[in-house]
Amino acid sequence: MPGVSFVAMKSWTFYEDLAQKSLSGEALSVQESKEILTSSDIELLPLLHSVFQVRQKHWGKDVTIHIINNAQNGNCPEDCAYCAQAKTSEADIEDYPVKEEEEIMAEAKRAYESGAYRYCMVFSGRGPRPKRVDTLSRIIKRIKETYPIQVCLSAGLIDDTAAKQLKHAGLDRLNHNLNTSEDHYKNICTTHTFKDRLDTLTAAQNNGLEICSGMIAGMGETPEDVIEVAMKLRQLGSKSIPLNFLLPIPGTTLKTFTPLTPDYCLRIITLFRYLNPEAEIRIAAGREFHLRNMQVLGLYPASSLFMDGYLNTTGTNTSETLQMIKDAGFTIRANFSLDEVLQKAKAEEEQQQASQASQLVMKQLQDLRPTLKSCS
Ligand code: SF4
Repeated sequence: MPGVSFVAMKSWTFYEDLAQKSLSGEALSVQESKEILTSSDIELLPLLHSVFQVRQKHWGKDVTIHIINNAQNGNCPEDCAYCAQAKTSEADIEDYPVKEEEEIMAEAKRAYESGAYRYCMVFSGRGPRPKRVDTLSRIIKRIKETYPIQVCLSAGLIDDTAAKQLKHAGLDRLNHNLNTSEDHYKNICTTHTFKDRLDTLTAAQNNGLEICSGMIAGMGETPEDVIEVAMKLRQLGSKSIPLNFLLPIPGTTLKTFTPLTPDYCLRIITLFRYLNPEAEIRIAAGREFHLRNMQVLGLYPASSLFMDGYLNTTGTNTSETLQMIKDAGFTIRANFSLDEVLQKAKAEEEQQQASQASQLVMKQLQDLRPTLKSCS
């Protein structure tokens, strides 16, 4: 037929086989994984339909909402090239030391009442000294005694002693991302190694903490690097896998980027689900920026989202995220119903808008003379 080109698309059995393999606990091969990421013979919709069977078996239609508390921002002595808080970064961020305990407690309350399943506290820095571990332990204990919420901590490199103390205080999970493959790691950070990261995860697991570890896609890595991280996390048995898609913050030092399209991001999430069928796979930073109008499709492989923004960047409104979950027929795993938290979020946002609308906002020069620059 003139003008119509036929491509050798995969048969339905191919997609079914992928799902069956994952459902039976078998790992996909490197070749199959690479095809999922790169082959134009594999179409996105049948792929998502197939991976949804795996997600549904372990998570039903539940979505866990995580809210992050950036409890200390900036002044980190490490040089992670993607990070706005690194010593080498010139990004324009608000540096502040560790928040007061009462501020952290108030934010834990807010997270709990917003329907969060898990409250994640993030502290910048290489890793906590013993005095900081004491403080963290005290805060974790208070949160666990006050709110029925899961607590996750991200505080850099942790040794065996610190892991034991944090577990004793009630910590549920320790976050420490692998970020990229072992081979590529030296290209994104020189002040610590991939092995340092693995050692932290091992210390956490040896002391009974669940681990949360994921990656940042978009940092110049190849599909093989992505596959290596997905397989490594399978080997480690990471209970939780946050998948970040690089937000290129001006002033950070990363120079090499991997182009990210919504289609490629969805294939990455799908691959992680196939290889880590039971994990709480979370679409983390970059959801709005890289998935754009296709972010709802991410719920078919992923079972968790961040709400209320990320470390140094904002995300969509809380109500928009909750509405997206509801509209797609999913629900949230929380102490409140999805409708309850959605209504609360809408009411809060309306109140905020009303108070903003009642304030006089003076026009700036660029509002008054928008074409000034182009005329001069
Ligand atoms: S250790 Fe953490 S806070 Fe410090 S530069 Fe690396 S990612 Fe940023």
